[in-house]
Amino acid sequence: SDEFKIVLGALELYDKTVAHAMTRYEDIFMLPDTLNLSADMVTQILDMGYTRIPIFENKGLGSNDDDIKNVIALLFVKDLALLDPADSHNVMKIASIYNHEVRRVLEDMPLRTMLEEFKRGEYHMALVERLVEQEDKDPIYELCGLITLEDIIEEIIQCEIIDE
Ligand code: ADP
Repeated sequence: SDEFKIVLGALELYDKTVAHAMTRYEDIFMLPDTLNLSADMVTQILDMGYTRIPIFENKGLGSNDDDIKNVIALLFVKDLALLDPADSHNVMKIASIYNHEVRRVLEDMPLRTMLEEFKRGEYHMALVERLVEQEDKDPIYELCGLITLEDIIEEIIQCEIIDE
């Protein structure tokens, strides 16, 4: 039955990690902290359809496009609804007003554990990081993706579809 397959999908969460289900780094839609929003940009951002948008530190000249971006804040698209035309529309300034916590998890966290975390309801999106060893230096955490409850649910449903 479908129910049985969904239970199987849920059970597979024990074997899978966050890395299996996340949206990969290259596909994350984020904005630089230095960005000042025009009305057009707000429209474009709304059209993207995302609820939450990571804000990264724009290191400016000298920084490399290949550098992994350093996320410093989260912008909730709904926060754009109350923009005062008299205020500056710098994205970081808006994000600082609401100050949504940026949650981070490691890519090898079991999907089951991630689901339990989301069920507790404190947050619904996490940045996914991997530990990168460096020669003669402390290891660093590198951003490699983003995960939401939706990704885990999709992972459960997908098993059902593939099994059919
Ligand atoms: P949303 O409400 O923004 O669509 P969901 O939690 O419903 O977010 O997730 C839908 C999918 O979009 C998931 O695969 C999730 O990883 C992805 N996602 C969410 N936010 C972003 C973002 N800022 N950039 C890229 N992908 C995102």
